[in-house]
Amino acid sequence: MKLVSNKTDREARLVEETLFHVANGYLGVRGNLEEGSCDPGSIRGCYINGFYDTVDLSYPERLYGFPQQAQRMINLPDVQNMKILIDGQLLSDPAECERLLDTSKGITIRRMKYTRGSGTITVTFTRMASFTRPELFLTVLDIDSGSLSGKMEILAGIDCDVQNYTNPDDPRVAAEAIKHFNLIKTEKLADGGYVLCETAGSALEVAVVQRLSAIDKTIETETSGNGIVIKLTAGMSTTVEKYTVFSDSRKCKDPVKHALEAADNCILAGREKLIMEQKLYLDDFWKVAAIETEGRSDIQDALEFNIFQLLQSTGRDGISSIAAKGISGEGYEGHYFWDSEIYIFPFFLFTRPEIAKAMLDYRYSILDGAREHALLMGHKKGALYPWRTISGSECSSYFPSGSAQYHINGDIAHAFMQLWYATGDLEFMSNKGAEVLVETARLWLDVGHYDREGRFLIHCVTGPDEYTCVINNNYYTNRCAQANLEAAAAICQILWQENAADPVEKATGITPEETEQFKRAAASMWLPYDKERDIHAQDDSFLEKPVWDLSKTPADKFPLLLNYHPLHLYRHQVCKQADTVLAHFLYEDGVEESTIKSSFDYYERITTHDSSLSRCAFCIMAARLGIKSKAYDYFSDILRTDLDDTHGNVKDGLHTANLGGSWLAMVMGFAGMRLSEKGLSFRIMQPGEWKRTSFRVRYLGKLLNIQIDSKNVEIKLEEGESVEVFVNEKQLSLDSTHKKVIQSLETM
Ligand code: BGC
Repeated sequence: MKLVSNKTDREARLVEETLFHVANGYLGVRGNLEEGSCDPGSIRGCYINGFYDTVDLSYPERLYGFPQQAQRMINLPDVQNMKILIDGQLLSDPAECERLLDTSKGITIRRMKYTRGSGTITVTFTRMASFTRPELFLTVLDIDSGSLSGKMEILAGIDCDVQNYTNPDDPRVAAEAIKHFNLIKTEKLADGGYVLCETAGSALEVAVVQRLSAIDKTIETETSGNGIVIKLTAGMSTTVEKYTVFSDSRKCKDPVKHALEAADNCILAGREKLIMEQKLYLDDFWKVAAIETEGRSDIQDALEFNIFQLLQSTGRDGISSIAAKGISGEGYEGHYFWDSEIYIFPFFLFTRPEIAKAMLDYRYSILDGAREHALLMGHKKGALYPWRTISGSECSSYFPSGSAQYHINGDIAHAFMQLWYATGDLEFMSNKGAEVLVETARLWLDVGHYDREGRFLIHCVTGPDEYTCVINNNYYTNRCAQANLEAAAAICQILWQENAADPVEKATGITPEETEQFKRAAASMWLPYDKERDIHAQDDSFLEKPVWDLSKTPADKFPLLLNYHPLHLYRHQVCKQADTVLAHFLYEDGVEESTIKSSFDYYERITTHDSSLSRCAFCIMAARLGIKSKAYDYFSDILRTDLDDTHGNVKDGLHTANLGGSWLAMVMGFAGMRLSEKGLSFRIMQPGEWKRTSFRVRYLGKLLNIQIDSKNVEIKLEEGESVEVFVNEKQLSLDSTHKKVIQSLETM
């Protein structure tokens, strides 16, 4: 898809700094203007995924165990400047301006036409964060001098005088401005220069190299440090390239050396090859990741935007993941939440399993931190993953809707099991997965207890709904804890059978007796249920509270979190986001159809969807229940959340969970795909808003192409020998002689 804009007003520009950012999972550069920071309202930013500084957290009343420091993704030196002067005068205020994002090429283009006297000049900036060379941010400047001539100066450079964006009135953004890094070294090169900086608190190093070159050697140019001077003549077309390369000490010992070498290699390859590499990478990506919606190209385009942003945002180096805002902005300070595993991981699992695996490698890499966190929180054993973090320590300063969200353990365990079902990767489960499953399961044994009736209870936790905090027996939490306990026992059993249990035994000392304890707690798990209403109660006390009347709440009071004291919210039946409804999506086994339906109706009335993680869950469950019109309504709400800035905060970055949610809605909502130990299944809703949809999934090393129209579903085995799937509960087998099955939807 191509996203095109020619807006110039300030509000639009702020949003577009996010929408037109370029990123590659490692490096993210906001779509700020090359003209420099002449734009006062702008949030200029450039980030490395997982590269952080630490900041002290101050509490008027600090209680035991409150995190003393938080990690913050920092704004790196500003490398975006490429100011153009003609005869000493800055080119600004273009007569025409257009920008474009091309998701098939992985580039953004900004073209401006300037009028100077009676002449015009056109300049075009093409930007790319390379998917194949993650350190590289490339800018190509094409100049078409038109009728102008004179002395053209192009001034670039690395500006280290930057800070993070702050907003003391919004809890979703950092509150105070701090200088995050010190300049350690700087050196000029013949065609640019480099800097080495060290973060003030976390003592991490980042090196930034920048080099400029003019392509046309026949044109009179002069390159000096951060600038190029060109003798401009009328009718001239020429190009200047700017290679900016980042390297950091989390990934290599000598970032300067690494960055200089990487810059050399990029320059040697040249921009044409680099841009071609990007295109080939994306051709390969879209072959599996594309979703078609025939007859509704607008929907297809929006999905393409969303999916592309997931690819841009997600770390794949095993020491990073996907932050709530990706690497597009500073909202939530670059922290990773449960969003990664529940909302985004499935997309990668079924399209690029190696990236999904890298996301879990990251969780494994912070397992020790989770063990320490568990101890700090008073547990004698197990691991408790931090609610929000970058490199493993808890960064949440408000525990009721932070550290109390123990369900993150179950969410991570769920992702590990999904990886196991989708890939059958025994080695990974043996070396990493089982250890995570055992340690997270142990935590539940420690936090929960049995009551006199033998029920296993979990007290004082917060579920996904952050308008109801620190309660007993949150249905979602208990359900995911139950699955976590069962999964740990099941995986250990498999590893013992396969003689592959050595690593997990060594790391955790797990025994068959302990897995029996896991199974017993799972089987005895208390899952609150209200018989009269035939719904699962969100927690033990939820249904006793007065119901918040959302129809009487003025529109300007949303999101409620910015307008009501938390305690006021906690005392009412009002939800920020899907909680029990989400549990019915993820863990539907054994739940009565009528309970799923009544719960959906009940919670829908009291859910504000103030969190962008909410509507996709309702969309999926509306589709699951066959309530077509609702499913489509929710879908149209989530599809363009970022493109239309429906939450009003896209300037702070993308809503990455919702981006993943739009993929989930198509594949797990309308096509009803689920994966469990029983296999891969589809429960298909006939399309109403488009004629035909098609998408692909990778499953057990095979590639499946699923096409659905109003009459049939067709499944093709495009790679691999044989596979079995279930469609609307009917088992279908595909193999090399039967590579395709067509199943009528009307007869099922
Ligand atoms: C939501 C959380 C989410 C966080 C980051 C909050 O508003 O309530 O569920 O993890 O945003 O996206």
